[in-house]
Amino acid sequence: TQWVYNFGGGSAEGNTSMKNLLGGKGANLAEMASLGLPVPPGFTLTTDVCTYYYDNGEQYPDDMNDQIEKGLSHIEELTGKKFGDPANPLLVSVRSGARASMPGMMDTVLNLGLNDETVEGLAKLSGDRRFALDSYRRFITMYSDVVMGVHHHTYEDILERHKDDQGYMLDTEMTADDWDVVIKDFKSATKRALGRDFPQDPMEQLQGAVDAVFGSWMNERAIVYRRLNDIPAAWGTAVNVQAMVFGNMGDTSATGVAFTRDPSTGDNRYYGEFLINAQGEDVVAGIRTPQTLTKVAREEMGDDAPSMEEALPEVYTQLAETFVTLEAHYRDMQDIEFTVEEGKLWMLQTRTGKRTARAALKIAVDMAEAGQISQEEALLRVDPMSLDQLLHPTLNPDAPRDLVAMGLPASPGAAIGEVVFTSDEAETLSKAGHKVILVRVETSPEDIHGMHAAEAIVTARGGMTSHAAVVARGMGTPCVSGAGDIRIDYDAQQFSVAGRTIKKGEIVTVDGATGQVFFGAVEMQQPELSGDFAKVMKWADAARRLGIRTNAETPLDVQTAKDFGAEGIGLCRTEHMFFEADRLGYFREMILAEDKEGREAALSKILPVQREDFAAIFRIMGDLPCTIRLLDPPLHEFLPHTEADIETVAQSIGVPAKELMARATDLAESNPMLGHRGCRLGISYPEIYEMQARAIFEAQKAVAEETGVTPVAEIMVPLVSSAKELEILKGKIDAIAKDVGALDYIVGTMIELPRAALRAGDIAEHAEFFSFGTNDLTQTTFGLSRDDAGRFLPDYVSQGIMEKDPFMTLDQDGVGDLIQIATERGRKTKESLKLGICGEHGGDPASVEFCHRVGLNYVSCSPYRVPIARLAAAQAAI
Ligand code: PEP
Ligand code: MG
Repeated sequence: TQWVYNFGGGSAEGNTSMKNLLGGKGANLAEMASLGLPVPPGFTLTTDVCTYYYDNGEQYPDDMNDQIEKGLSHIEELTGKKFGDPANPLLVSVRSGARASMPGMMDTVLNLGLNDETVEGLAKLSGDRRFALDSYRRFITMYSDVVMGVHHHTYEDILERHKDDQGYMLDTEMTADDWDVVIKDFKSATKRALGRDFPQDPMEQLQGAVDAVFGSWMNERAIVYRRLNDIPAAWGTAVNVQAMVFGNMGDTSATGVAFTRDPSTGDNRYYGEFLINAQGEDVVAGIRTPQTLTKVAREEMGDDAPSMEEALPEVYTQLAETFVTLEAHYRDMQDIEFTVEEGKLWMLQTRTGKRTARAALKIAVDMAEAGQISQEEALLRVDPMSLDQLLHPTLNPDAPRDLVAMGLPASPGAAIGEVVFTSDEAETLSKAGHKVILVRVETSPEDIHGMHAAEAIVTARGGMTSHAAVVARGMGTPCVSGAGDIRIDYDAQQFSVAGRTIKKGEIVTVDGATGQVFFGAVEMQQPELSGDFAKVMKWADAARRLGIRTNAETPLDVQTAKDFGAEGIGLCRTEHMFFEADRLGYFREMILAEDKEGREAALSKILPVQREDFAAIFRIMGDLPCTIRLLDPPLHEFLPHTEADIETVAQSIGVPAKELMARATDLAESNPMLGHRGCRLGISYPEIYEMQARAIFEAQKAVAEETGVTPVAEIMVPLVSSAKELEILKGKIDAIAKDVGALDYIVGTMIELPRAALRAGDIAEHAEFFSFGTNDLTQTTFGLSRDDAGRFLPDYVSQGIMEKDPFMTLDQDGVGDLIQIATERGRKTKESLKLGICGEHGGDPASVEFCHRVGLNYVSCSPYRVPIARLAAAQAAI
C-alpha cells in the first residue's frame, strides 16, 4: 500500500481530486506543485494511515516507516539539505489536513528537526544566530505543548520572567545570549515536568509529531467540531510533512493569508493580510497588527504601515499572478496561505474560500458573466439555505452581543423588542407602538394574535414543527423554540436562565437563524433582493422542473410568497383563519352547539367571513392554483383551557361556564393527533366542510366576476386513510359545487398517513391530486410525536441512530419509501394525478432534491423558503 505521497519540484504523486485520501491541504499542495507553483517540497501521509491507526489499537502499518524515509530523501534531494545534519539541517513542518477544513481544531508543529547541534548549523547557514535560536525556542514550546503535553504557559512564564529581569518589553529586544539562557531553562522545565529530556533525535521528533497529529483527530475540540459540522469520524486526517520556509528571516521575509476575492462582499479584488518578519502563527495569534495586501485597501483603511504591494512590490506581483493562475485553474475564489523567505515567494496552501451568502451570489454571478463558469455551475455554487441570510434582516456580524439563551432555529430572521409573557399583552403593547418579543413555555392557537403582534417568538418547549415554529415560519416571524434552559415564571412576569433574570419590558434580540437570544439590542442589517439575487433566481427558474408553491393563508403571507416567486398555494391551512379573535368566537359557538341545527346556525355566521378570506387570496393569486385544505385540527384545540379563560369565553358567547367546561372535557382526547381530526370531522359533521366548500365556490365566482380572471380552486381533504372517506366527502363537495354553480375546481387529498400511501391506488380513483403531508406522515410512520420528539431526538442523532431530525429533513429511506409507493400506485390508477408535498420538508434542499428525483410536480413551503426551494429545485435538475 502507498501510505506516502510526495510533492514538490514541479511535480506530485497526488492531485486535487484525491482529497479523500490526501486531505484538502495535501491534495491542493500536490496540485499546486504540479502547476509549477513554488511549493516547499514535502509528502503527505494518507487518511488511510489514520484509519489504520485507529482500527489497529493506535499502531501504524509495518511498511510505513520505510516510505517516510523515502519521503524525507525526496525532500532532501529537492532542498539540498539533510534531516539532522548539523552542518546543513533540513527542518520540516508537520500539519494535519482532513478532507473538510477544520480550522484550528488539530495540531501543528513547526521548525521540527532542530536540536542543540542543528540549531548552530541553522545559525551558520542563515548568518543569523538570533533567528536560529528564536526558531528553536518556538519549536521547543510548540513541541512540548502539542506532543509532550506540557502546557505552553510553562514556557511563556519563563520567557516573561527573563524579560522582566532584563527590563525588556518586547520579544524583539531579546538577544542571542538571552535566548541561549531561556532555551536552557525551557529544556530543564520539560525535564522537570516529564522526567525526561527534550528529544534531540530528529527522527524521534518526527514520530512524536506524527503521533500527535493523528492523535488530535480524536481530541475533544475536533470531535465537537465534527459533530457540529456533520463530518464523519471515519474520514480521518492526513498529515503533511513539508520543508520549512521562514517568514521570520528579516525585512524581506513575510507571511500572510489572502483571498482572491473579497469573502464578505464578493467584490472582485484581492483581500488579505501579511506580516513582515513573522511566522504563520504570529498572524493567527494577533499579537502584531497585520498590514494590508494592496495599496487600495491600505488607503481605504487609512493604514500607516505600507501594503505588501508597496513594501515588497516584486513578490506582490508574483503573488498576484499566482492568484490569477489559481482562480483560473480552480475556477473559484481561493483562500491562500503564503510565506516570503528573503524575497522568495512560497505557497503553503490554497483552498476554496469560505464566503458570506452575499459574496457567494456575487462571485457566482460575476464568474458566470465573465464566462469563467457556466450558469449551471453558478447555481451549484450557492448554498440554498444560505439565501435565508439574505431574505430577513440579520444581525450585523461584527456587532457586539451578549448571549442569554439558546434553542432551536425555528424560524429565521432577527428582531429586537421588549419581553412580554402573554399574547394579550403582546397585542396591546404592539397596538400602542411597542416592539415586543413574546416569550411562552409553548404556544397554542389562542396565542395567534400575540404571535402576529410580536416581532419574534421564544418558547421554552417544542421542536421544529411545534405550533410556534410552524406558525412563525408561515408568518415570517423569527422564532426560537425549545430553549430548554429558560425557566418562565408567568406570575412574576420574568424568566431566568443560567443565573440571570430577565423581566417583562427588558430588551432582548432574537436570532431565529441560529436559535440564539441576546440581552439588549444587537445592531441589524437589511435584506437586498435585487441585483445578483434576482439574477440567480431567474437562472434557477430556467433550470428547474419542479413547481414551487407556498404554504400560506393570510393575505400578507400570500403576497410575500408571491413576491418571492411562488407559483401557487400548495397549502392554505383554513384553521389558521379561525384563530383571529372575532372568528374564534363563532367557531367556538359552532363547536359548543348541541346539534346540527346549532352548528349550522354558527356556521352561517362564519360563512361570509370565510368567503372573504378566500376572495382575498384569490385576488392576490390571480390565475395561479390555490390548494385550500378543509378543517384539520381536533376541535378541542379551539376551546379555552384554563379556568380563567373558560370564564371569559363563557361570558362572551353567553353560555354557562360549567357547560363550556363539560363540553371541553367531552372533546378532550388522550391522543388528539390520532383522534377526531381531519376528514374524520368532515365525516361526523359534514356541515363544516360543506360551509367551507360553499365559501370557496362563492368567493371564486365573486372574484371571477370582479377581476375577469377565474381563480383556480383545488380543494384538499386532510388525513384521509381510505378511499371511502374521500369518496363520501368528494360527493358532498361536488354537491355544493353544483348548488353554487361552481366554476373551475378539482378535489384532491393529503397523503399523510401510512395507510393512505399504501392504498394510494384506490384513493386516486377519487382524487385529482395528492399532496404529501410529510409532517404527519413522518409522525405516523415513526410513531413519533412531532410536538414532543424534539426533546429526545438529539440523543438519536448524537448516537448515530438517525442522521438528522426527520422533521427537518425528510427520512428518504422510510417516509420516502411511502412517498414513492404512493406516487407509483396513484399514477398507475390515474396518469394525470398531480403530486406535491406540503410538509415542512418542502423547503428543505435535500428533501426538495428527493421530490425532484421521485417525480413530484411541485413542492410547497413557507413564504420565506420559496427562494430556497427555487434554487434547490434547480440544483436537483442540474
Ligand atoms: C403535514 O402534516 O405535513 C401538513 C402539511 O399538515 P399539518 O402540518 O397542518 O398537519
Ligand atoms: Mg398534517
